[in-house]
Amino acid sequence: MFRLVNVNGRSALEQDGEWYDLAGLANDPALADPLTAIARHRELHALNVQCVPATSGGSIDGTGLGPPVPRPIQSFGIGLNYRDHAGESGMALPPAPLTFTKFPSCIAGPHAEIPLSGEMVDWEVEIVAVIGTEARNVAADEAWSVVAGLTLGQDVSDRAVQLTGSPPQFSLGKSFANYGPIGPALVSVDTFEDPDDIGLWCDVDGERMQEARTDQLIFSIPVLVAYLSSICTLYPGDIVFTGTPSGVGMARGRYLAAGEVVVSGAEVIGELRNVCVAGAGPLAT
Ligand code: ZN
Repeated sequence: MFRLVNVNGRSALEQDGEWYDLAGLANDPALADPLTAIARHRELHALNVQCVPATSGGSIDGTGLGPPVPRPIQSFGIGLNYRDHAGESGMALPPAPLTFTKFPSCIAGPHAEIPLSGEMVDWEVEIVAVIGTEARNVAADEAWSVVAGLTLGQDVSDRAVQLTGSPPQFSLGKSFANYGPIGPALVSVDTFEDPDDIGLWCDVDGERMQEARTDQLIFSIPVLVAYLSSICTLYPGDIVFTGTPSGVGMARGRYLAAGEVVVSGAEVIGELRNVCVAGAGPLAT
């Protein structure tokens, strides 16, 4: 088991709140790169055992953690993957995983600010699967073997942009800068007692908005990986936002405002904490 984090752009392993530089542990500079570390995820279990206090880089608390996958080649999102959320959205259950893109430029760290793009920006807490091994046409019952681990994500969504036109415009409305915070760690699959049953929740300014378990997914993580790999070759570091449960703002008639804090959490993985700020407008640099 291991917890892989991104400390100042370099891969590190986390243990008991301390971080350990991966390239230093392995005496291999190539492992500093997060995507390389993910592609070599099977080696990380042995390196994790080598973390001893003397080699600690310091406390995780004092660092600006980056996203554990800073630049995925492909970043998939799955819509309407919990029955209760499909119901609150007034949409029929999809016959196959409803797939869109969160373009990789929106991926951000676990404590990134969210610059609001408008008046209808919404929260969606989600478990995110991280591919570890190149895969094509993998069967569902083999799919966990190509997953490096799981992390947590916010599929921040501008509903006005997302629902523009018919058919609607899912991908761009979910891809503004920092609309994909992920982290705090990429946690190996074997760390979970049951990787198909993980509790997750989302609080906005201290109010519990979403709370569910991934055993309620319509399409489980192995089924999603099998389905996506039947169409696209999957590469190490590719990420899949697996869908959000009920309790989003759109169903409550309430959206995010500048100054509000979104805290997203999941068992074993940990928490994201993202403060909303006023957007700088379309001409921002
Ligand atoms: Zn979503």
